[in-house]
Amino acid sequence: GDLGVSDSHKVLQEVFGYSSFREGQEEVIHAALKQQDVLGIMPTGAGKSLCYQIPALLFDGITVVVSPLISLMKDQVAALNQLGVHAAFINSSLSEGQYRKAMANACRGQYKIIYVAPERLMTESFLSFTSCVEISMLAVDEAHCISQWGQDFRPSYIKIVDFIQTLPKRPVVAAYTATATKAVKEDIICILGLKNPYVAVTGYDRENLFFAVKKPQNKQQELLFYLQKNKNSSGIIYCNTRKNVEEVYDSLIERGYPAARYHAGLCDSERKQSQDDFIYDIRPIMVATNAFGMGIDKSNVRFVIHYNMPKDIESYYQEAGRAGRDGEPAECILLYSGQDVRINEFLIEKQLENDELDFEERKLIRERDSERLQKMTFYCFTNECLRDYILRYFGEYGNTFCGNCENCLTEFDDIDVTQEVSTLIRM
Ligand code: ADP
Ligand code: MG
Repeated sequence: GDLGVSDSHKVLQEVFGYSSFREGQEEVIHAALKQQDVLGIMPTGAGKSLCYQIPALLFDGITVVVSPLISLMKDQVAALNQLGVHAAFINSSLSEGQYRKAMANACRGQYKIIYVAPERLMTESFLSFTSCVEISMLAVDEAHCISQWGQDFRPSYIKIVDFIQTLPKRPVVAAYTATATKAVKEDIICILGLKNPYVAVTGYDRENLFFAVKKPQNKQQELLFYLQKNKNSSGIIYCNTRKNVEEVYDSLIERGYPAARYHAGLCDSERKQSQDDFIYDIRPIMVATNAFGMGIDKSNVRFVIHYNMPKDIESYYQEAGRAGRDGEPAECILLYSGQDVRINEFLIEKQLENDELDFEERKLIRERDSERLQKMTFYCFTNECLRDYILRYFGEYGNTFCGNCENCLTEFDDIDVTQEVSTLIRM
């Protein structure tokens, strides 16, 4: 029969134990249940997983979830299993034996939800599996990975399109991302071939977050001063390099702060330990590169300090947005220096060297990344409302005065900001 609102409410409460939907969730779930394709654009922490997990439990067939990160899949499957939902993941972390077992269980209809890495979709074994079961929905998590305009383009996401074509019956296709720029949105709809999708864009504004930019002579001093004033709260300090992580970490440890560190240069076991210690407030201060955070859900993060300016507003807002998930006041502070701009310019060039691109593509990507860097840099120099600046970047219109950012609380003398920035960036 027809699946509807009351069924999804029931699952929300009985399976997930939540009393009500958050903004946007109900609408996208309802659309999917009515067999409409979906594009959900919701900020990090908004609860996108539930948007595909609930319909997955209500559909007759299986839901395949494409997800880019092994750690994310593991966490989600573990959480679902704990709730009594039969789910599994298929990725390169499984041994041959585990893989065969998972596939055999899947064929017997043991799972409602199967997470799969995009690289696996078009493999012979996965295709033979999907040809023998009914796939009700294909959910694409972190869907911006399909776009070259997204922050982390993953060529293997293109395989999703081929995969859909192999299926005897086209499932509902539901895509989710936190990246809300127009180009990415259009790419997702067009490349994934979403049919008349229900598009939901919700709440980029996080009212409880206070935003500030500081340009200290000495970042380390500024940071220590901040921590001194905010003893006993949990926070993340993002640095742009492993070296900076180590330096900041050492200086905190030296002064007796309960800090953990996280970057790609550490072994798996230390990273795991750091992450756990942070989540369980054993070491509530995390010093990390941007390798840390995706899939982390810690509600009581009271501050996110960027020791260096990130490469674009997307990265900044995503990382800063890990503060205050519990809705209580939290602070997002960016420590700016001119050197951050130069390092990011260098990284843009370096990235281009690594990718196999032709001249035109290279030019396009360089322009795109420089433009983003420029907008990030403007953020550090604007005298206007910082929240409004971010929301406008994502195509949302807020108030020009939020009253909860440093700029709204400061009176400025008139200076020409454009002048100042143009000397910093090659425009
Ligand atoms: P996203 O993928 O959008 O970043 P997640 O799906 O990881 O967000 O959800 C973030 C957190 O919010 C999770 O702990 C999730 O259980 C919780 N959550 C999601 N929906 C609800 C809801 N309706 N009520 C309460 N908590 C929710
Ligand atoms: Mg998510």
